[in-house]
Amino acid sequence: MNWIANADLKPYNTFGVAVSAQWMVECDSVADIREAIQDERWKTLPRLILGGGSNVLFTQDFDGVVLLNRLSGIELVNQDDTFVWVKSHAGEVWHSFVMHCIQNQWAGVENLSLIPGSVGACPIQNIGAYGVEIKDVFFSLDAMHVESGEIRSFDHQACAFGYRDSVFKNEEKGKWIILSVTFQLRKQPIWNTQYGDIQKEMERLGYTSPSLEGISQSVINIRQSKLPDPKVLGNAGSFFKNPVIDESLYLQVKEEFPSIPSYPAGAGKVKVPAGWLIEQAGWKGYKAETCGVNEKQALVLVNFGTATGSEVYALSTQIVEDIAKRFHITLEREVNIL
Ligand SMILES: Cc1cc2nc3c(=O)[nH]c(=O)nc-3n(C[C@H](O)[C@H](O)[C@H](O)COP(=O)(O)OP(=O)(O)OC[C@H]3O[C@@H](n4cnc5c(N)ncnc54)[C@H](O)[C@@H]3O)c2cc1C
Repeated sequence: MNWIANADLKPYNTFGVAVSAQWMVECDSVADIREAIQDERWKTLPRLILGGGSNVLFTQDFDGVVLLNRLSGIELVNQDDTFVWVKSHAGEVWHSFVMHCIQNQWAGVENLSLIPGSVGACPIQNIGAYGVEIKDVFFSLDAMHVESGEIRSFDHQACAFGYRDSVFKNEEKGKWIILSVTFQLRKQPIWNTQYGDIQKEMERLGYTSPSLEGISQSVINIRQSKLPDPKVLGNAGSFFKNPVIDESLYLQVKEEFPSIPSYPAGAGKVKVPAGWLIEQAGWKGYKAETCGVNEKQALVLVNFGTATGSEVYALSTQIVEDIAKRFHITLEREVNIL
């Protein structure tokens, strides 16, 4: 296990922001992690666990220890006539895990193809796309306490999943290193093709009936056509969450903006697409000097190459303030600001 001083974090965050960490340590076994958390540097300095760095924005150098979770391996742990229980270690690349499931005809994660990042981070914000969220296939996870080294299992209820939310963004924030996640997947798929253009894309690709491969490839194609590739243009996907607002506020806004889209979000609540608000306000394709708003997807802020995290953050603040002024709706950032 190697401790690197003044580590360059640019290759470790998809925004491609040039910052450094006082220390970085890469762990590829539970024993490594246990050793790292006993180190004086981990005990005394600020700490950060990083997977793929695809949901973070560094606004400054990190004056502490960055622990890269690289635990690998995928195991079939149990099965019955209906389900398989599959455990993936936290450092596996999420999309590789999805591909592994599809190869084995284990259903449930195909709509989540091509989401960047690691398996270990997927429960943190209950990742979701194309009508599916992690909570729909999640069974349990094992995590190590960052101070005591205690290993605890969290079941579905303990994770308290919400929209882009879990207990790990609230009460348990920063307290646990996720080591592995176990998923409950189906042997007989329940197709989820109603969302977005999946059906249309499958037909275009020549699939006459749904299949795991067909859905996955369709999702991949749609995502590639709509979202900038972080290797080409630094970004962290959707920068903001879709706001959930009171129905009374929604009706008020609708009077002025009759075309505002909405989705039911529980009693008296309505979810509004943040991308629509940002686009309506004229930000789509906006270019500041070093960063801007993606021209295809208004929810995605992009780094043109040399942006600092503070510049991206300042742009996000301008957008939040403008949306509040125009629509009386407060946008919440989905990306973790550091
Ligand atoms: C182009 C693009 C598209 C995206 N599309 C989507 C999408 O469709 N849906 C969606 O939900 N998200 C999307 N995202 C966001 C991102 O892919 C997810 O949030 C992903 O789960 C982040 O994984 P990561 O390993 O990169 O996490 P990181 O960015 O490394 O970390 C994110 C947070 O999780 C913590 N963390 C990471 N690993 C662990 C661990 N093992 N134990 C404890 N804490 C940990 C970190 O400390 C940090 O707080 C997109 C991002 C990009 C760049």
